[in-house]
Amino acid sequence: MKKLEQLYEGKAKKVFATDDPGLVIVDYKDDATAFNGLKKGTIEGKGVINNRMTNFLMKMLEKNGVPTHFVEEISDRETLVKKVEIVPLEVIVRNVAAGSLSKRLGLEEGTPLRRTVLEYCYKNDDLGDPMVNEYHIAAMGWADDQTMKNIAAYALKVNELLLRYFKPLHVDLIDFKLEFGKTADGTLVLADEISPDTCRFWDSDTHEKLDKDRFRRDLGGVEEAYAEISHRLLGE
Ligand code: ADP
Ligand code: UDP
Repeated sequence: MKKLEQLYEGKAKKVFATDDPGLVIVDYKDDATAFNGLKKGTIEGKGVINNRMTNFLMKMLEKNGVPTHFVEEISDRETLVKKVEIVPLEVIVRNVAAGSLSKRLGLEEGTPLRRTVLEYCYKNDDLGDPMVNEYHIAAMGWADDQTMKNIAAYALKVNELLLRYFKPLHVDLIDFKLEFGKTADGTLVLADEISPDTCRFWDSDTHEKLDKDRFRRDLGGVEEAYAEISHRLLGE
């Protein structure tokens, strides 16, 4: 597989074309941003950890019936994936109140939710990724009703599988963000990443944060937190 020209550079990853039009290579950077790009920094080693963790989890999900874009890990930071047209939504899954939900509803962070909450945000940096509902999504034509049914079912299944996986590692999965896309033949697959950049992980006993909130909130021990979660999941 030949790595060809760069198609896109995002905040955390670069995307490259390959000699197969159905496949692209994602290249994970150590760059970190928060608050819609207002806060910028570097988290040493993050790209390697996010690449390995994402691939490990995508393989586990795929085995359990969730189709993903994953094809093959080609290096520490690079992975071959199916090229998709991204559904322009951030799909947020929440088990415990934190972050923007806590702010919006005045809930103390850590308040358990009676049931899983699904939220959708329109992926648009200029607008600050505004929250939208299924009526907005249908009205704007971002995804049809059947696609949204499938996205919701996959997102809840991913949550079940991740909760089951992280529990014995003494990690509470508080919330996370998923992205979905469609391959050339129209198949819906899970895309992008699943990492401490996109999930809130709290130690089950100490409630210590093991994710990007350490960077967002200047809590210190950022690299150590990424290393700890990676160690628990991958043993490395
Ligand atoms: P951002 O665009 O938010 O700065 P990243 O730095 O993570 O985010 O950039 C990666 C980009 O690649 C994102 O826009 C993401 O939606 C997109 N992407 C993820 N998986 C795929 C895929 N399989 N095919 C095409 N694009 C993808
Ligand atoms: N999230 C993400 N990318 C975003 C926004 C949120 O990966 O652009 C993740 C975030 O890491 C958290 C979950 O989605 O695990 C819910 O985030 P929230 O809405 O609370 O936003 P935040 O507090 O990060 O602004």
